[in-house]
Amino acid sequence: MKQAERFQASVELLQKVEAELSKAIQGEVRFDSGSKALYASDASNYRQIPLGVVVPKDVDDLIAALNVCRRFDVPFLTRGGGTSQNGQCVNVAVVADTSKYINRVLSVDPVGKTAFVEPGVVCDVLRDAAEEHGLTFAPDPATHSRCTLGGMIANNSCGAHSVMAGKTVENVEALEIATYDGARFWVGATTDAELEAIIEEGGRRGEIYQQLKDLRDRYAEHIRRGFPQIKRRVSGFNLDQLLPENGFNVARALVGTEGTCAVTLQAKVRLVHSPSFRVACAWFSRYLRRCRCRPAFQQVRPHCN
Ligand SMILES: Cc1cc2nc3c(=O)[nH]c(=O)nc-3n(C[C@H](O)[C@H](O)[C@H](O)COP(=O)(O)OP(=O)(O)OC[C@H]3O[C@@H](n4cnc5c(N)ncnc54)[C@H](O)[C@@H]3O)c2cc1C
Repeated sequence: MKQAERFQASVELLQKVEAELSKAIQGEVRFDSGSKALYASDASNYRQIPLGVVVPKDVDDLIAALNVCRRFDVPFLTRGGGTSQNGQCVNVAVVADTSKYINRVLSVDPVGKTAFVEPGVVCDVLRDAAEEHGLTFAPDPATHSRCTLGGMIANNSCGAHSVMAGKTVENVEALEIATYDGARFWVGATTDAELEAIIEEGGRRGEIYQQLKDLRDRYAEHIRRGFPQIKRRVSGFNLDQLLPENGFNVARALVGTEGTCAVTLQAKVRLVHSPSFRVACAWFSRYLRRCRCRPAFQQVRPHCN
């Protein structure tokens, strides 16, 4: 297997990239040593010094930064709260921090039980907005007061209440995404007729959908047979979401891809009824006894963990 090569950039190239970023975006462009040191680590044990850091003011700024990096063929990495534990948000790249400015809940629809959010919104900010309508966003990692929806989507985060209403993948309805090569469009569940129309329309979106359809058709049986049906399956790409029985949902297929396929610009997420009681404690002297009782608890209260 070929070893991945470390990206090398000359000082001249980085100076050009920094200058172009400063012209192209309203937000902060931080190529100083202090900023690079700050963004060289996350909650993992890994350390990678970024090429530089940008803190975009809004989604258009984020796109503008991505465009500059593409022009110079420089790697680009989006970052939320930086609470990843496997080195997902450190790399030799221009790191774009969405948590400082691109962090709003855009709207909550209490009737349709959905919300539109920007990628840098903190999980608890969304949960507080939903709570005003007796609703909640079910996935709540232990880092819920810090982690962002962009990071949760990329990591397919779960949490105690994901037992009640699913992991992030089950709670994402649609995503607006940008690809490194410059395409920008919404993805979500797609009927057969819509899929054919998108492919027919062509362009980069049509090409991507055609390739995803080919991938699905080729491996559908393997995916059906091979994907374990367990509640906390968070590793690996969610190729099962492309199966016809799952509605060819490109948004959900992107959940868990750790930012490797596209940048999330906006998300439409599902909200669920917020339980009135959240905490119950039971003491078991023996671990096996606890395991045996768990299914009975789940029948009484489906959100028990
Ligand atoms: C103490 C501790 C407890 C934790 N508990 C849990 C838990 O209970 N359950 C759980 O699931 N996880 C848990 N985690 C892991 C982590 O907190 C979650 O995965 C969290 O949701 C990550 O969010 P973040 O905003 O910090 O993402 P980041 O770490 O900033 O980024 C995560 C990934 O998302 C990508 N990304 C960020 N924004 C975008 C975007 N706009 N577009 C595309 N990609 C993007 C990044 O490139 C990176 O690959 C825990 C971590 C810690 C340190």
